[in-house]
Amino acid sequence: MIEERDIIIVGGGMVGMSVAILLRTQLSETTGVTLLEGNDLPVSGDLQDTYPAFDSRATALSFSSRRIFEDIGLWEVFEKKTSPISSIHVSSKDKFGSTLLTSSDYGWPALGYVAENLALGTALLSSTSDQAGIELFGSAIVLSVKASDAYGTSIKINQNGVHRHFKAKLLIVADGAKSKLRESFFIDSTIKNYGQDAIVVNVGFEQPHMNCAFERFTDSGPLAVLPLVEASSQPNRCGVVWSVNPERGKELETTSLDGFKELLQKEFGYRLGRISHIGRRSRFPLSQLKAREQVRNGIVIMGNAAHALHPVAGQGFNLALRDANELAKILSCAEIKGKRLGDLGVLESYRLARQRDQEIIVTASDVLPRLFTNRNRFLGLARSIALTALDILPPLKTKLVRRAAGMPF
Ligand SMILES: Cc1cc2nc3c(=O)[nH]c(=O)nc-3n(C[C@H](O)[C@H](O)[C@H](O)COP(=O)(O)OP(=O)(O)OC[C@H]3O[C@@H](n4cnc5c(N)ncnc54)[C@H](O)[C@@H]3O)c2cc1C
Repeated sequence: MIEERDIIIVGGGMVGMSVAILLRTQLSETTGVTLLEGNDLPVSGDLQDTYPAFDSRATALSFSSRRIFEDIGLWEVFEKKTSPISSIHVSSKDKFGSTLLTSSDYGWPALGYVAENLALGTALLSSTSDQAGIELFGSAIVLSVKASDAYGTSIKINQNGVHRHFKAKLLIVADGAKSKLRESFFIDSTIKNYGQDAIVVNVGFEQPHMNCAFERFTDSGPLAVLPLVEASSQPNRCGVVWSVNPERGKELETTSLDGFKELLQKEFGYRLGRISHIGRRSRFPLSQLKAREQVRNGIVIMGNAAHALHPVAGQGFNLALRDANELAKILSCAEIKGKRLGDLGVLESYRLARQRDQEIIVTASDVLPRLFTNRNRFLGLARSIALTALDILPPLKTKLVRRAAGMPF
């Protein structure tokens, strides 16, 4: 039996769940949204980090992401679990030049917010489960997909041994960078391997972070130290994302706690005093991925399946959330005009509306790590001059900050 659905989203990561909630809040009540996730979904309570999309990482949310979550009533749910970023200190190790960005310079309450993925995921999952009109399937293994005919895209799944066959007016592919669905539709992608791994770890410092984030460019790669909310066991917590070459990455992942502490302290310095606590370390190989097509008749590719970025500027999820918000708006207008949800013209207008922001953010996330890890002496000088110039040229700084925050100039 074929079960007909309006919109099916494959992939219940941060992007798939956000898309589901945005569509549900912006489309008419009669338009159903079905979310298929390969992992088991906990029925209630906090997510465990056995759900790979919601691991021990923390995500820096931009001001534009805050606004989107506010509009759908989600911000108040997890605001208490996020740490505002009041200032960002950018520096180069062993080089002159640094810059300090502060929220008060822009009249914003914060430059951004840091949310631990488990807390964000728990809020997204409970909102997805609570919304009438979102049908949620965990342990849903997609067996096959067949491109759209006039009536929709065919999706066959196996859920705990039960086979089901759906037909959707619109299929949203959000199954991550290694998207099997993107491959099933023979959508090519360009992949750039950075030859870098990110070591992610939560760290306790001797001194309070005062809601300051640090971006430190070192010869081995960028090191980000992000302020986290206080935990009862550990007051001065920060999330560290340290990009290094794969050999060093393996060493940093496996070396003793004391050895790791010493290496991190040497690279970061003593801005927050001594490191007092080191959490569990995880390693993520870094590459950039760009799908060559993001829309086809009845299909949209989103999130990491469409564009996966180097985490240096903390933009991957923020960009995908702006995509999701725009898609929801465009589909809502199409619905009012009586157009088909999967209409290629409608989906093309979404792609065009998102093209410029995507190009700028994808390029910036690619150029930054290369510029700041290149050992060339003249580039090193250029970096120092750039950081100094940023500090003395407020209009340039304003432009960069507004773009990074996902705000119009
Ligand atoms: C170290 C690091 C730090 C980062 N920091 C930031 C940051 O500070 N700010 C920021 O904006 N971004 C950041 N990012 C980027 C951000 O993490 C990603 O943009 C985001 O996680 C992408 O989410 P996604 O839902 O598209 O993909 P994923 O998280 O990969 O989720 C895909 C989901 O699809 C499911 N799935 C896969 N295949 C199937 C299938 N066949 N059927 C059903 N389900 C399936 C998976 O189980 C998974 O749940 C960072 C990335 C890294 C690596």
